[in-house]
Amino acid sequence: MSLTVTQAYRFALDPTPRQVRVLLRHVGAARVAYNWGLARIKANLSQRAAERSYGIADADLTPVLGWSLYAMRKDWNQAKGQVAPWWAACSKEAYNTGLDQLARALKNWADSRRGERKGCRVGFPRFKSRRRHSPAVRFTTGVIRLEDDRRHVRLPRLGAIKTYESTRKLHRRIADGRARILSATVRAEAGRWFVSFTVEVQRAIRAPARPDAVVGVDLGVKALAVFSDRRPPAENPKHYDTARRKLVRLSRAVSRKQGPDRRTGRQASNRWHAANAARNRVHHRVTNLRGDAIHKLTTALARTYGSIVVEDLHVAGMVKNRRLARVISNAGFGRIRRQLAYKTKWDGGTLIVADRWYPSSRTCSGCGVVKTKLCLSERTYVCAACGLVLDRDVNAALNLASLVKRVVAGSGPETENGRGADHKTRPGRAGGDEASTLHRAVPARVGQGPSPGNGRITEDH
Ligand SMILES: [Zn+2]
Repeated sequence: MSLTVTQAYRFALDPTPRQVRVLLRHVGAARVAYNWGLARIKANLSQRAAERSYGIADADLTPVLGWSLYAMRKDWNQAKGQVAPWWAACSKEAYNTGLDQLARALKNWADSRRGERKGCRVGFPRFKSRRRHSPAVRFTTGVIRLEDDRRHVRLPRLGAIKTYESTRKLHRRIADGRARILSATVRAEAGRWFVSFTVEVQRAIRAPARPDAVVGVDLGVKALAVFSDRRPPAENPKHYDTARRKLVRLSRAVSRKQGPDRRTGRQASNRWHAANAARNRVHHRVTNLRGDAIHKLTTALARTYGSIVVEDLHVAGMVKNRRLARVISNAGFGRIRRQLAYKTKWDGGTLIVADRWYPSSRTCSGCGVVKTKLCLSERTYVCAACGLVLDRDVNAALNLASLVKRVVAGSGPETENGRGADHKTRPGRAGGDEASTLHRAVPARVGQGPSPGNGRITEDH
């Protein structure tokens, strides 16, 4: 039994100076195509708005420019001789990257405006500046492969680029015919170059080590995660805090230099750029360390337990609370949930997401009584009804774990419940709005965010 998934493999690159020049040219070309397309769309939209304000009938307005990738690419190919006489110096993939980014940005904006897109409102795309965008170029055609020395990747127009680590894991899968590279994106982050391969992988479906075990995971504030089965809690990655002093020092150094000022149009000094780059490097390292800790946690959980229950935290709402904000972004709740969703799928387990309003912290795991109020500062749960005294997060994790047992007992396999499709009232309680809270078991939700339909979306990050 195997499962076909789209997965990303990322390697840090060590390009030669010549390769860096070629890469910079390509990401610059992507930006040019993006800005060219955006300028046209903007001009078209404001032309139509102006005509409408003169009272011209809708049918007589200047026609709308198509903003699908296909339409824009066609227009670009007609205009490129004028707009970018140097176009032949770069692969066509560079221009395609920019236009694809623009097509997605416009789609996100349009969907968001119509209310068809989840999450925060998406604004109208803005022009990309050389300083402010994260440069990337995606190759989908041509020679994209891993070299047999497992130390180089070969890309169109760039040749073999050295990697910092061995490409062995992916190389072996490709050699066995279990993986196929769909595309390669090269991107600069904090002054380093990375390649990210989008790969179609045949994964053998495994069984978790304990298929019948259920674990409730409380993504806490104090610890990264607390478990219902009393395994030691996963500590919050403290890398941020240890690196913070360094970050504070570097930030102070940045603020002493002459930074950019949009109001006066003042350009940043070279010293400011150097100091800022140094600060960004520390930030980047902290992010990597945190990402690593989260991956290790979710892999261990998915490989061990048959069922994992987590809370559906309203992360966007919680981050608005400034004092909690750092801790939560630190813990990366959203990433944990997303990773658990696809990793349980790979490892043959089930992820159950409890309803957002399920009072996992306020319920007594011993007798089921729900407190009306529980301060965040109360770290220990004390039940007035049955006298239970328990760590707050362990209590919440136990409630989450008990949720799955109840769902399974009541309705057969919980994987068949869709979001909102199966509402159940918790048994044994009556009265009050809490008591009538519905909870739903939601199977792993993968591929939130951009639609997975176009085959380019990869799981994780
Ligand atoms: Zn109790």
